[in-house]
Amino acid sequence: MSHAFLSSATLPGLSALFCITFFLLWRRQRENRCTLNWALAYACGVLGSVTGLMRLFVEHAAAITFVGNVFMLGMGFFAVRGSNLGHTTQSQDRLIVPIFAVTVICSLWFVAVDPSVFWRGTTSSVGGAAMFLLATYIKLKDEDRDRIDDLTAIAFLLTAAALLARPAVTYFLEGSLQSDAESADSIWFVSFRSFAALSWLSIAILFLFRINTDRLKDLAYQSLTDPLTGILNRRGLLGVGEGMVQDASQAKPTTVLVCDIDHFKSINDTYGHRVGDMVIRDFAEVLRRASADAGYAVGRIGGEEFVALLPATTLVRGRAFADHIRTTFLARLHKGVPASHTVSVSIGVAETIGGESLDALIDRADRALYRAKDGGRNRVEDFPGLNRALKLPLAS
Ligand code: GH3
Ligand code: MG
Ligand code: MG
Repeated sequence: MSHAFLSSATLPGLSALFCITFFLLWRRQRENRCTLNWALAYACGVLGSVTGLMRLFVEHAAAITFVGNVFMLGMGFFAVRGSNLGHTTQSQDRLIVPIFAVTVICSLWFVAVDPSVFWRGTTSSVGGAAMFLLATYIKLKDEDRDRIDDLTAIAFLLTAAALLARPAVTYFLEGSLQSDAESADSIWFVSFRSFAALSWLSIAILFLFRINTDRLKDLAYQSLTDPLTGILNRRGLLGVGEGMVQDASQAKPTTVLVCDIDHFKSINDTYGHRVGDMVIRDFAEVLRRASADAGYAVGRIGGEEFVALLPATTLVRGRAFADHIRTTFLARLHKGVPASHTVSVSIGVAETIGGESLDALIDRADRALYRAKDGGRNRVEDFPGLNRALKLPLAS
């Protein structure tokens, strides 16, 4: 009994510690539903293992053991649910809820209708193993998985294997156990309890690594992305742009577009800042859509200023692309802006010349943009002297 007690007593403490940790993490980032599920998993762990401890002190413990098993199954349910949410953004409830329900019903059968310690325990183990095998499969199917996911899949698989081995090994070594007291004293009960503590500890640590790694990825993403439009910000664009300029050659130059929405201040002044934001988003959308398939990098570098980087693109093709952007945006209607008020954009274009930095290239495109503004706006210009300016009609 003392072995059983000691091995069982580690689980509630461990579970309570992780339950509180996951709960506090969830409170800081409530949109992260994985963390809430993991907090619930370890809450079930506390209840399940405390109930498990109680059965060591009670003579006829079938009902208490059943309740304990349901909580432990709940622990697996929420752990698997949280893990699924991280991979498919779907909890896969349509699969794990039936597994949970069938397991509980079968387990109840072996408590109330056809009492059997062995089959009650076996049912819970098989149900738990089925959920972990499902979660392992979902993890391994995800092509974007990383090392933490691989390790979690291994931990899930080992847990499932141990859950399946528990009834089998117990049966072969000790026969079909007749009473809860007998099962609690069994060496296999103690061994599996110790294994359970170890497995829940490693799974919790892997979950914590998962949360931490995802948070760092989020922060890295946020530091490179413009929150209003979802495209790169200045920092993000300069990061990818340096490589594009270094890889450029005379045969495969990189061309840059600097775009600035015309008379944008008057949109803000006439229709309000929110409508202005919408127009900024609209332009980003036009730029992003046109660039996505071509592999161009686009970013918002200022209020209503954008840059597109076109690798392996000549100035002539870059100007044609810029004109496509200009006309597409001109034809677009904006929420909150009357159709009679056309919103235009001016674009400056420049192409790499050997050994030039990204800053210098953007600077030349910026000077071309000033020419476009000076020339009456709603037009595409390149850097003076290198190519004849493309004259485009003004919008009516
Ligand atoms: P031009 O044709 O010469 O480019 O004139 P403009 O009015 O577009 O340019 P100007 O630089 O005078 O005004 C830009 C305005 O953009 C001023 C600023 O208040 C506004 N702005 C900057 N960032 C944002 C933003 O995030 N949202 C909104 N709605 N407005 C912004
Ligand atoms: Mg501007
Ligand atoms: Mg402007």
